[in-house]
Amino acid sequence: MDWEIKNVTVVSPQQVESKASIFIKGHKIAAVGRHIKIDEEVISIDCNGLLAFPGFINCHDHLLGTYWPRVGDRRPYLNWLEWDNDLKSSPLYTERQQIDSQDLYQMGGYRHLLCGVTSVQDHIPHFVRELFGKEVPIRIISKYGLAHSVTSFALNWGEGIEKEHNLAKENNIPFITHCSEGFDEETIRSVETLHRRGALSKQTVLIHGIAFSDSDIDLLAEYGCHVVWCPVSNLYMFSRTAPVKKLLEKNVNVVLGTDSPMSGSINLFEELRVAQAYFAQAYGQKLSEKTLLQMVTTQAARAMCLHELGEIAENKWADIVLIDGDPKDPYQAFANMDYEHIRLVVLNGRPKYASEEFIQVFEAMKIPYQKILVAGHRKIVDGDILGLLARVRKAVKFHKILDFLPVEPW
Ligand SMILES: [Zn+2]
Repeated sequence: MDWEIKNVTVVSPQQVESKASIFIKGHKIAAVGRHIKIDEEVISIDCNGLLAFPGFINCHDHLLGTYWPRVGDRRPYLNWLEWDNDLKSSPLYTERQQIDSQDLYQMGGYRHLLCGVTSVQDHIPHFVRELFGKEVPIRIISKYGLAHSVTSFALNWGEGIEKEHNLAKENNIPFITHCSEGFDEETIRSVETLHRRGALSKQTVLIHGIAFSDSDIDLLAEYGCHVVWCPVSNLYMFSRTAPVKKLLEKNVNVVLGTDSPMSGSINLFEELRVAQAYFAQAYGQKLSEKTLLQMVTTQAARAMCLHELGEIAENKWADIVLIDGDPKDPYQAFANMDYEHIRLVVLNGRPKYASEEFIQVFEAMKIPYQKILVAGHRKIVDGDILGLLARVRKAVKFHKILDFLPVEPW
């Protein structure tokens, strides 16, 4: 499918270009700019100056854990294991267990799609994702080496730290693990352990890092590692989060992750706001909106070794989010966005979700859609989100309200 998005303000962390067009050919962006030439008859959509961002990339979640509300009666915890024990013995976990795992995955996908997230890193062994992640409406990043975490009580994920890290290096994919998520003796030595085992490199992506020491940060900077910051989840479980200012000062690549809603944020919007509010409160300085944008676009693509993503540029994959906001301050519009502002989400060159003014576009492209209200705003979505919610409610036997899916029929 070839088509054109016309009259948008294209925003990247580096620059803003108004009155631009984006020409989409198949799943890629064929051209972008003010004076592009298209030599064929294509569907052309005038978007009246809406802001165009690359599809957002969420670098940490567990889609199987897409449920609500958060669990944790004995906070702050010593490490993830204490929390996990509380989770597994909670009535909410029993409730969640009644739901089909494929449906939990789909809910995770829609949770993100409604926020303009088009790619998510689902931290889980590959066979689980391959089994349950088939019908998810966004991209699940599937090429990575992994460990669960770096202690003797880590879950038995992957083939072992050395082997998984080597595999990542050979294939230029990320090696991803939880790291320094807690304060017990082994957890606080996680970076030292990875260093000793030869698993620090440009492929290494460390999730959380709340117990990073200054010498840990020096090692991460030296080896060019990446850190996934999940402020909502960390502050909820541990009342503490990663030393993000020091990481940024040492030029460690910091990207953002929502984690699952059973410990983390409801959605990307909350994660962005908490990240900025935490930074202001902890350091008395502003974390700029541009830096935040990098954390979910260009820098996230770099951490995930997905160089086809993170930018609206020629030959990149056509993942695009159109947002309603002031073109004079597009970065502020990004940081303040909410469900109402997300106007169109395109994944792999195909519209997936939009506000009602795009109905004719879906019809012209013959994309089936469902009409829904999202937080009271009229939207259309590709796929059966209402059927999904009905199945979930049937499974738990009551009208479950999920704050991360504020969806009703329209
Ligand atoms: Zn996690």
